Amino acid sequence: MSTGTNDVMIEAHGLTKSYGRDTRVLDGVGLRVARAGIHALLGPNGAGKTTTVRILATLTTADSGTARVAGYDVVADRRRVRRVISLTGQFAAVDETLTGEENLRMMARLSGLPRARARSRAGELLERFGLTDAARRQAHTYSGGMRRRLDLAAGLVGSPEPGVLFLDEPTTGLDPRSRRELWQVVRDLAGRGAAVLLTTQYLEEADQLADGVSVLTEGRVVAEGTPEALKSRVSGHRLDLVLGSREAYLRLATRAVHHSPETLTLGIPTDGTAAHVRSLLDEIDPHRTDVDRFSLHRATLDDVFLALTAEKKEAPAHV
Ligand code: ADP
Repeated sequence: MSTGTNDVMIEAHGLTKSYGRDTRVLDGVGLRVARAGIHALLGPNGAGKTTTVRILATLTTADSGTARVAGYDVVADRRRVRRVISLTGQFAAVDETLTGEENLRMMARLSGLPRARARSRAGELLERFGLTDAARRQAHTYSGGMRRRLDLAAGLVGSPEPGVLFLDEPTTGLDPRSRRELWQVVRDLAGRGAAVLLTTQYLEEADQLADGVSVLTEGRVVAEGTPEALKSRVSGHRLDLVLGSREAYLRLATRAVHHSPETLTLGIPTDGTAAHVRSLLDEIDPHRTDVDRFSLHRATLDDVFLALTAEKKEAPAHV
């Protein structure tokens, strides 16, 4: 993929936003998404993901900083930006009492397509998103996965493709199979040239789908890079050790990324292989007296944040 500036479809620099005097929601967020790229804004609840998307989608304005979408300034050229983007997620406007087909035809008409073109466009999107069989059913009868696909189709119906897509937590609440189906739809859209910015709380989703990730916490990008580079920065698993004494707990606490003093438990990063776990245990507890029990589990997003924020509190980490 070329990285020429013409290929940058979403670009933001130093976005800040506060609500009231004390609530600083964004504290200098920047990002770039290329044509045919999928970029994930990964962060916990309240990190500022939706606010970032709303600024880029012209639904709200930043206090400072600049952003361009498809080359247009999101404030000065708001109308042009609105013509090239589609936005789905918590903003979707599907009418539950209409069928899938009726919803898409109505939205196509509202966006200015003539009747015949609206019908063919609706049919084309239903087909593409695997909804042809459900086209004549009311939207409220759809499963969660079908409903998300209809939301996506509704977002695309009036925008020129490939365009720019904003997906706010597109798979939250979906079962694993529907989640995978939706991922495939998003990949196909990027494959056709769309630039996709999605928000997610799930490391796995960013990993599966995105070619670039910005880790957002408390309104700041604390790390950015490819999923691979990001993962290599944090271990994939966490070894939780239940220690036999408070002395042992305190002695080992600095090595841990997770602390639970009430239960004398420390979480230590590991790659999860038997060899590494064995050598960690030998190193931490050479006399086999300090560790009572241990358990191994996949690192959660919290662990990733803790590791990343502990590493670099000052400046964003480019990985
Ligand atoms: P995320 O999408 O990462 O969960 P949001 O961007 O929705 O985060 O919100 C970030 C923070 O901004 C939250 O603490 C939220 O309560 C606050 N916030 C969002 N919108 C408003 C608003 N209109 N007024 C006041 N606070 C808001």
